Amino acid sequence: MTATTLTATSPLSTTSKALAGLKCKECGAQYEAKATHVCELCFGPLEVRYDYEHIKRTVTRETIAAGPNSIWRYKAFLPVETDTPIDVGTGMTPLLKANRLARRLGLKNLYIKNDAVNMPTLSFKDRVVSVALTRAVELGFTTVSCASTGNLANSTAAIAAHAGLDCCVFIPSDLESGKVLGTLIYNPIVMAVHGNYDQVNRLCSEVANTHGWGFVNINLRPYYSEGSKTLGYEVIEQLGWELPDHIVAPLASGSLFTKIYKGFREFVEVGLVEDKDVRFSGAQAEGCNPIATAFKENRDFISPVKPNTIAKSIAIGNPADGVYALDIARKTNGNIEEVNDEEIVEGIKLLAETEGIFTETAGGTTIAVLKKLVEAGKINPDETTVVYITGNGLKTVEAVQDSAGQPMTIEPKLDAFERALERARTLDRLEWQQVMV
Ligand SMILES: *Cc1c(COP(=O)(O)O)cnc(C)c1O
Repeated sequence: MTATTLTATSPLSTTSKALAGLKCKECGAQYEAKATHVCELCFGPLEVRYDYEHIKRTVTRETIAAGPNSIWRYKAFLPVETDTPIDVGTGMTPLLKANRLARRLGLKNLYIKNDAVNMPTLSFKDRVVSVALTRAVELGFTTVSCASTGNLANSTAAIAAHAGLDCCVFIPSDLESGKVLGTLIYNPIVMAVHGNYDQVNRLCSEVANTHGWGFVNINLRPYYSEGSKTLGYEVIEQLGWELPDHIVAPLASGSLFTKIYKGFREFVEVGLVEDKDVRFSGAQAEGCNPIATAFKENRDFISPVKPNTIAKSIAIGNPADGVYALDIARKTNGNIEEVNDEEIVEGIKLLAETEGIFTETAGGTTIAVLKKLVEAGKINPDETTVVYITGNGLKTVEAVQDSAGQPMTIEPKLDAFERALERARTLDRLEWQQVMV
């Protein structure tokens, strides 16, 4: 080998130089890549900044495809420096062509990005936590924490356990039992707070200032939120290195929505995908609809609400990234729509019956909004539309317990089975619930 080839930039050495620091989203002031999230000058939120020229020189479709089968194949675009990130198999979830759901709704090119089967805790939050905890270790934290609507607590507790970090999570005290147990089992400290998510979050901001812990969605938020970009990258790669025409995703704080957008724009910027207009549509529950309301009323500020919906995982009444989500929906010619709790349950059942995917209430919200947008003519049947399903139905069984029907309970005898089968075939699903053979 000659000296020239030895010093040439290796396509694999993409690690440390891409992460350039933090920048205020409002005034542009720049900061070092430390555990901080608010601009000292204007109090705007901080965002990670990269050297895209460096990424462009070192990353190709081939180097990505040769990477691990997880979010870490996109490490060059993530705010970490280590060569050994915490890789618990997060990401690269299926992108499913949803033909039966599409036919039911009158669409032609519908895809489901299925994070109901994300690893390790069956929601999209594993993406943001894998990134946040990798950065937390780099920054020297030994205790990690979060303010959660449920899924984030699951992810933080599980991945902290794997990484050997101490963990203390904060949740509202009225969460679904699957979400509570799905946190406790990893043996963190769990604080169930009498109050809604926004009150939990406020308490956590105070704790973050006094305890020196790494709060994934507070002082580590700039790093944490970047993990959601992988939902954009994966869809591009799984569509054969193309952008979709339209995406539909749930909105809680609005972060996920804005980061899918950022992920798409970055791949265009570094030349990995051809540019094209993508419409961004967002889903909220009627019982927690601050962004949908601002969209409808044509306002560019968000009025906080007090959440009251079965879609607890997306029940954030004062969404930190709400105005940015609004802006993206408007400038991409998308929509933000809301649905009620009954429609959410119908959405869960519709996705299960047509595609074999059992999602939680956030996914039910997103499917119900998809249906509403199609019926209103706001999604063109020919558009390649990707719907983001972000969580798993086994965590929110309370939501569908009373509407999923009952099994045909029978004696262990052939004639009992035959009689039950006949009844099952003649009764419609709702009547099944009353049947006792
Ligand atoms: C947290 C969460 C969201 C939305 O998160 P934001 O980034 O805060 O908008 C969506 N779906 C599920 C299942 C979640 O847990």
